[in-house]
Amino acid sequence: MKWEPVIGLEIHVQLKTRTKMFCRCPVGFGAGENTQTCPVCLGFPGALPVMNRRAIEWTVLLGLALGCEIADHAMFSRKHYPYPDLPKGYQISQYDLPSCTNGNVVLPTADGDRVIGIVRAHLEEDAAKTVHIGGRTGRIGGADYSLIDFNRGGTPLVEIVTAPDIGSADEAKRVLQLLRQTIVELGISDAEMEKGALRVDANVSVRPSGSSELRTRTELKNMNSFNYIARGIEAEVERQIAVWESGGEVQQETYDFDAATGALSPRRSKEEADDYRYFPEPDLVPVEPPAVLVERLRSELPELPAARIRRIEARLDLDRATVLVTGGLDRLWEETVTVGADGVAAANVIANTVVGAGVEIGAVAPAELARLVEARELIPRATFDEAIAKLGDPGFKADPYLAQEAVSDAAELEPIVDAILEANPGQVEAYRGGKEGLLGFFVGQVMKETQGKANPRVVSELVRAKLGG
Ligand SMILES: [Zn+2]
Repeated sequence: MKWEPVIGLEIHVQLKTRTKMFCRCPVGFGAGENTQTCPVCLGFPGALPVMNRRAIEWTVLLGLALGCEIADHAMFSRKHYPYPDLPKGYQISQYDLPSCTNGNVVLPTADGDRVIGIVRAHLEEDAAKTVHIGGRTGRIGGADYSLIDFNRGGTPLVEIVTAPDIGSADEAKRVLQLLRQTIVELGISDAEMEKGALRVDANVSVRPSGSSELRTRTELKNMNSFNYIARGIEAEVERQIAVWESGGEVQQETYDFDAATGALSPRRSKEEADDYRYFPEPDLVPVEPPAVLVERLRSELPELPAARIRRIEARLDLDRATVLVTGGLDRLWEETVTVGADGVAAANVIANTVVGAGVEIGAVAPAELARLVEARELIPRATFDEAIAKLGDPGFKADPYLAQEAVSDAAELEPIVDAILEANPGQVEAYRGGKEGLLGFFVGQVMKETQGKANPRVVSELVRAKLGG
């Protein structure tokens, strides 16, 4: 039987407001432990929460970017569960009346737009951070003791819940990349996974291909990079298919994915009690954003990544457009092309060489980059790479690099090409036997021999002519 994955995502986004959700403590990463706390976020009796206006506005802004309906009456509730990192014994979270519902993420693909439903996006406060010391895995099992840093407690979080519309691990990754870029461009979060500002859980089930049933799902937690998420989902899909095919039944469980070993380990179900005894938070008024505010925010929405991918695709191709937009590189690309660079060449140089050299994108002068892109085959490769690496320096000029010409004279290059071919008879035979991918090997050897000074296009033509390709 053929199987298809059914995947939904729950994405937590830490908003980069100046202060916390319900108090005036600063929000910040890396401050000394327990230095950013107060009676409100430590849950002292009698301390009263006050809503962060900017967090509400940003949640609405995100909801609008996701095409959601914005509630004119949302509520905060108390979600009860006992845990040391939750001093009040409950988390304040929007529950049955969230701020944003019924939206979507549009993923441009070669077969048209894939529309992934957004069930809801709601606002809540983050728990404090617990660090388990002494165990092998960094989890509570096997740890000697645990420490709690309350700085994170009370930080505003938006939780985005997608519909189970995602059909593969790769699609999940692409949806997340697009969503992350949207969030970054809205300016509401840095969305850095390694700092925990973007956290993703995946709900995974499988079903016979083509059917519309929904089988028992499991939840994957603690995945802190897009690649880990894709690998974790793949591993879980394979595990579930094996369970069904051996006549077993998938159980509703929560797993941690260990990226180092590729292993899935179930969590103790004790942590997963479903009865949170929600009730409306009596210390907060309802969230009722005025229509004029919602309309102002709607008018402030920038052109979103999915739309830009389609617009740029028309001038390039889908893959390159996607890489440029989700990497936040498309503005530089457009400006570089506007001042005269070839579109495909500029896209390749920006996405590979410029990003690979770790250049700060915002510091690049498009006109200088355009000149380098256009001269890339006329100057030595090593010179080109060196120029790209310095592209972000203040006042960078391409001129001194453009003055160094690559060796394009066939008469000068021919003896070197001959020597390389003579030194590699095995590869020559394989190339003549049809392994044309070896062309790059020969060109690479000549480039090495000339210390990057040869014009690779001329070398490539020479090799082909000599080997009769
Ligand atoms: Zn506080």
